[in-house]
Parts: sequence; C-alpha cells; structure tokens
Amino acid sequence: MDGITIALSKGRIFEETLPLLAAAGIEPLENPDTSRKLIIPTTRDDVRVVIVRATDAPTYVQYGAADIGVAGKDVLLEHGGEGLYQPLDLKIAKCRMMVAIPAGFDYENAVRQGARLKVATKYINIAREHFAAKGVHVDLIKLYGSMELAPLAGLADAIVDLVSTGSTLKANNLIAVEHIMDISSRLIVNQAALKLKREMIVPILDAFASVVGP
Ligand code: ATP
Ligand code: MG
Repeated sequence: MDGITIALSKGRIFEETLPLLAAAGIEPLENPDTSRKLIIPTTRDDVRVVIVRATDAPTYVQYGAADIGVAGKDVLLEHGGEGLYQPLDLKIAKCRMMVAIPAGFDYENAVRQGARLKVATKYINIAREHFAAKGVHVDLIKLYGSMELAPLAGLADAIVDLVSTGSTLKANNLIAVEHIMDISSRLIVNQAALKLKREMIVPILDAFASVVGP
C-alpha cells in the first residue's frame, strides 16, 4: 500500500509511543484500549497504525505488512530480528529481565552443586543463552501466561521473567536473584520499505530520534 503502516501493540507501548508519533505530526484517531478497531487512521492520511500482539510486531514488519513498528528488546531477541533494521532505542517500556525463585529455595547452592534446574519462561532463547554462559544445566519449560505461578505450583524451580517494580514477584513470594539484562523498546523498520519509502520513513525516524535524545 501507499503511505506508511506502523505496527504497535496496545497498552504501554502504544501509550509511550504517542509522544514520539506526535513529534512526527502523527496522532492516531482512536485509542485501541477503548476501540475494537485493529487498523487505526491518523491525522496524516498517508499514515495508519495496525494494532498487533506485542510478540507479533517484528513479524508484521519483517514481512512488510507494516513498514515500521515498535518492539521490546525481549521480543526482538526471541524473534531473531531477521529482515529488520533497528535504528533506534526508544527508551520506552523499560524493565529488566530477571531470574526469580520462590523464597526459601537455595538457588546459589543448587547452582554450585551442578543440579539440573527446571526453569519456566516465555523467553526461551534469552534463558538458554543466559544459563549456557554460566554453565548451568537447565530444563527450560515454555509458558505463555503468568510465569509467577510455575514455582508456586511445583512446575519449576525458577522463572525468567520481566520485572519493573517487583510488586508481582513480591505478591507471590518470589525473589529476583539474577539480573540478565535491561530491556527497552526499539524502533524496527522493514529493510525494503526503508529503501522504497525513504522520503517518508526518514523524517519519522528523525522526529523520533529528536524526542528520544542521545
Ligand atoms: P500480554 O501482556 O498481552 O500477554 P505482552 O506481555 O507481550 O503481552 P505487554 O505487556 O504490552 O505485552 O508488554 C509489551 C512490552 O513491554 C514487552 O515486550 C516488554 O518489552 C515491555 N514490558 C513488559 N512488561 C513490562 C513491565 N512490567 N514494565 C515495563 N515494560 C514491560
Ligand atoms: Mg504483559
């Protein structure tokens, strides 16, 4: 299609991207949290927003169904990033990827003993790399929903999950024991679109960069 399609997930990424869009003269005409529309027109008739699941944003941009999008570093590391240009850390939706355990589990000792740990997570690639680098043997258990439940229900010894305030961990009697990496969201751009629609995309990148700063 002519014009630019931007893939965003609703919730924190949509909300925190609004000031960046505004700097490029783009205001979505509806709020995805109250509207059921999945394709949202904007104040610029050459720009539309498609509302996708956070984990699907890289896929839409990779295949060119969206020209640009916003995705967490967590999502990009799990996706692999093929076909994506990642020009800008937007410094939004900040959190940390952590290892957490139930209070009372002697994690250091289990690791020291070379025990095989059962680790539940949605972030299989990030977890695999983290434990491989430490030389810790793990059985990874892929989950799609609340990781916090897994150790409490006896499914796993530990979890790898995103933490921002820590209140969800605390409410479930879990303790963060390792900081794997800091996470924020990045701008992603389809590589072919960047060449073919350069005169439309570059001013949007520049506007975003001017808000984000160095
Ligand atoms: P869903 O919550 O619908 O299952 P999701 O967790 O993939 O999907 P969001 O919760 O909207 O989607 O998270 C989108 C992105 O925001 C994540 O990929 C991550 O980069 C970041 N994020 C996730 N949780 C937090 C958090 N607690 N604080 C800050 N940023 C977060
Ligand atoms: Mg979430």
